[in-house]
Amino acid sequence: MENARTVICTKCGAQLEPDQDYNIYRCNFCGVAFGSSILFNKDAMEKADKSLQLGEYNEADVWYRCVLMREPKNFMAFRGRILCAGKWKSVTEIDTEVMSEVRIKKLYKRIEEAMGHSDDEEMDYFASFRKVVSVIERYCQNENEINPLNARLAKLSEQRKQFYIQQEEAEREAEEQPVRVITEIYGETAVKNSVKEVEQKLQPLLEQRKYLDHEFRVARQFLIGVEKKKGIDTTQKK
Ligand SMILES: [Zn+2]
Repeated sequence: MENARTVICTKCGAQLEPDQDYNIYRCNFCGVAFGSSILFNKDAMEKADKSLQLGEYNEADVWYRCVLMREPKNFMAFRGRILCAGKWKSVTEIDTEVMSEVRIKKLYKRIEEAMGHSDDEEMDYFASFRKVVSVIERYCQNENEINPLNARLAKLSEQRKQFYIQQEEAEREAEEQPVRVITEIYGETAVKNSVKEVEQKLQPLLEQRKYLDHEFRVARQFLIGVEKKKGIDTTQKK
């Protein structure tokens, strides 16, 4: 007969209660339930890492949670859950990519959870992870501002092309009928000014982008450095 073991809910921190036969452990506060065969699987960590390497992030996350329910300070499980939230197999895979606000929020939440439960010596690591995520967040904002401006430029350039075609036609006609004076094509100056205006808005954003790219590389390198110091294999396993 199995005895009740202490299991902590990764969602709310309450203790999970076993059912009569110790088959299912349930959190009476938030309703999370886990089968004991999963919960007490001795290969949970191994299974988690394997799923992570395969890019099965939801599955990996469940295994990491199982580890944390038994060992609420397990560093590798916290790290794994953050990687799962970002859909990264390792920290070397992290890049400046556009991601949804939901995913960024989830990443911050996982990092906060890790910082709230880990020992002091792990804080550097999670702080550097938070730095990486904050650069990605700003990168996404920057991208969201740049994209509509680029789209506007593309439209304006299309309009300009149309003006050139009209102008060429006008010039051809003028050659045939020298009496006609080529007048400025209506709206051309407005388009030119619009292009200037958009380019002026774009320029500081592109500079910011360059700065963010640099800041990102530095932050990620720092994170990789902390992993190396901790003896984590940062190269990707096949
Ligand atoms: Zn709970």
